[in-house]
Amino acid sequence: MKNSLLFIVLFSSALFSQQLKPIDTSDFIQRKILIENFKNEFENFNHKISKEYSGRIKRELIDIYEFSQEEFIHNIEKKEFVFDTRFTDYVAELERKIKSQPNNSGLSDFKILVSKSNNPNAFCMPGGILVINIGLFRFFDNEAQLLSVICHELGHKQLKHPENTVLSKVTLNNSDALKARVRSIEKSKAGQNDEAFSLLKHILYSEGGKRRMEEQAADSLGYLLYKKAGPTNSNYLDALYRLKEFDSIPSISISKEDYQTLFDLPDQKFKEDWLQVEDFSKYNYDFYKEKISKDSLKTHPEIDARILKLKNDFSELDVAFDSVPKIDTTSSFYQLKLLAKQEVITNYIEKGEYGKGIYVNIKRLLETPKNNYLKSQLGQNFLLLYEAKKQYTFNKFVEYVTPEMEDESYIRFLSFLWNLNLAEIKIISEYYLQN
Ligand SMILES: [Zn+2]
Repeated sequence: MKNSLLFIVLFSSALFSQQLKPIDTSDFIQRKILIENFKNEFENFNHKISKEYSGRIKRELIDIYEFSQEEFIHNIEKKEFVFDTRFTDYVAELERKIKSQPNNSGLSDFKILVSKSNNPNAFCMPGGILVINIGLFRFFDNEAQLLSVICHELGHKQLKHPENTVLSKVTLNNSDALKARVRSIEKSKAGQNDEAFSLLKHILYSEGGKRRMEEQAADSLGYLLYKKAGPTNSNYLDALYRLKEFDSIPSISISKEDYQTLFDLPDQKFKEDWLQVEDFSKYNYDFYKEKISKDSLKTHPEIDARILKLKNDFSELDVAFDSVPKIDTTSSFYQLKLLAKQEVITNYIEKGEYGKGIYVNIKRLLETPKNNYLKSQLGQNFLLLYEAKKQYTFNKFVEYVTPEMEDESYIRFLSFLWNLNLAEIKIISEYYLQN
């Protein structure tokens, strides 16, 4: 993790040396047009399914697709996607670049959307909507790495993995489990839900062995696409090497003294007890297992296997990883990277991940203590905590400390949030909103 720590430090100083226009969220017209287009496309897609299948299979396929399409539209309405023209123009240009390559029949009908999720990940929906997370801009060094991920997802699309996986679930007749899943998604709509399309993602990512084979197939086909569309001096594997370094917990550190600095207020003295870390033995490990297993790319053991397979199949990829990031500060990608970093707190908060959002908020305020924007943002975010605590929904927005957590700074931080009572949260919020 040392490399990525250095990397983040380098970039945070670059970030504050220039002010970028915040991401434009007044995108009502664009969203409306897009929703109309998608509704038409979904109708055509469902129509094709109805013609191709019959009986129970057809009914269940249509059920799943209609449910996830609704969920998808709802996510657009909820502003889960970025429609700022700096991003939309950029991805439109990437789309054009890939579509204009010769000999890639079938690659004329995909559309890239940028989601506000901070995790460096991407997802291909049945029908060819490719969602790339803003976290890819934040985490990656350059466009070539982003292009690797896009080509990999297009590999899935070309091989019809999303459609086939949904079909195999339905033919296996485990629809009871699916229905239970649908109910649980409906219940847990609010709060920590990083899955833009939770049901589909659940279906697509839940199969171990088959999924690994599909990953490797998408890697190989993706590489062939990348060779045409990517820059000649770049390495397709760089993105995978970088993703191995990803940690879903922000790589920052906040000391005990830092809390004293920020939370010893005129109306409320700092309390040592706030930093008391709870006794892990109180927790029931099994209860958290499911949550943990869903976590992050970092724990994907298959990344190593994927790298090895690609090196085996394509000897030109069998070169040592150059750990010095290839960063071009004059590129459009770099501008979007800065923008993605600037929006990181807002995106966490909007995604219901208050803990991570406030963690980064605190760190940035410590780095630039006179930044009034960060102060009022902290006040605003503590107001959200206050509301959540008042409504008994705190656990939906702030993670529990779990026995497997290793990051001492993050454990202390989460404990701090959990240890504060309603009145204390309110005083902190008011202080930072007024100062
Ligand atoms: Zn994949």
